[in-house]
Amino acid sequence: MELSKLIRPNILALKPYSCARDEFKGEASVYLDANENPMNFPYNRYPDPLQWALKEKIAKIKKVQPEQIMLGNGSDEPIDLVVRIFCEPKVDNIVAIDPSYGMYQVCADVNNVAYRKVLLNDDYTLDAERLLAATDAYTKIIFLCSPNNPTGNLMNRTEVLKVLNGFGGIVVIDEAYVDFSSEKSWLEDLNNFPNLIVLQTFSKAWGLASVRCGMAFASAEIIRYFNKVKYPYNINKLTQDFVSEHLDNEARKNEWVSMLLEQRTYLSEQLKQLPFVQKIYPTDANFVLVKVPDANAVYQYLVDKGIIVRNRNSVSLCLGCLRITVGTKEENEVLMGALSKL
Ligand SMILES: *Cc1c(COP(=O)(O)O)cnc(C)c1O
Repeated sequence: MELSKLIRPNILALKPYSCARDEFKGEASVYLDANENPMNFPYNRYPDPLQWALKEKIAKIKKVQPEQIMLGNGSDEPIDLVVRIFCEPKVDNIVAIDPSYGMYQVCADVNNVAYRKVLLNDDYTLDAERLLAATDAYTKIIFLCSPNNPTGNLMNRTEVLKVLNGFGGIVVIDEAYVDFSSEKSWLEDLNNFPNLIVLQTFSKAWGLASVRCGMAFASAEIIRYFNKVKYPYNINKLTQDFVSEHLDNEARKNEWVSMLLEQRTYLSEQLKQLPFVQKIYPTDANFVLVKVPDANAVYQYLVDKGIIVRNRNSVSLCLGCLRITVGTKEENEVLMGALSKL
């Protein structure tokens, strides 16, 4: 793969914004280079545009190089950037599995890039050949999501490998739910595939959805293009410091994950016993997808009781399905109490 052939020509030629902190790196005693206010330390200073301190910590945990990481305002930022870096509007296209996370199509639409949806099999498994058959010379990106949202299942490794090996463009694997999964991350294969971008986030297992911090992992070469196109100071200092503190407490995150996995089992077992539940789909995420005869009615019944789940009734292959996030023991008991009276 020749990366420069995949990059949009204007991005390839782009001369990125050069900020004061790009020009001078290191420690000095007097900073008069960035028109900052000398008062109100440390918030008067522009933050590190490349968030090196935070990336060093993430790199250790994820076993990658800091240069292989891009941090964004949620995963939504790298999703948007990948479209803008690789896809020429009205010319190039994107191929993605369907159903999947809604933001891929929104970013494609905003950027006026054609978005080709390829249905998963009826059991939500991936058919690599069907996906590859939808690509053409103008397909720059394939979006995969594993574990997938809203179906909850992992994409089969062999099928994903067929996509990685059989496609000459960029393959994005969104691993927002990887912490809840029984399979290893595709991060371990990052160095084997120069066309692979893995997305992870602090919004789920780390309990930091409000903070908006997402991670993209790729070759250092791809990450350099992300850095060229992103806003120079896209991650503010409060976020960098706050996420960094959380990374020092990985054990707590792991405890939350164990608790949620236990609750996922509890919830699945309880839901199975309800007479109107037709199907509980296998899940590797922190939610369960359940099929009922009338999803709209069950959804509304729960809303009236102050319990909100996600109605996926109108999503491809999800007729009759509700997506239920695993909550605390107490929350799950409230849900089951309500459902058992339906
Ligand atoms: C929740 C979720 C994300 C996380 O998005 P953020 O912008 O990081 O909060 C990413 N991808 C998928 C598939 C998700 O379900």
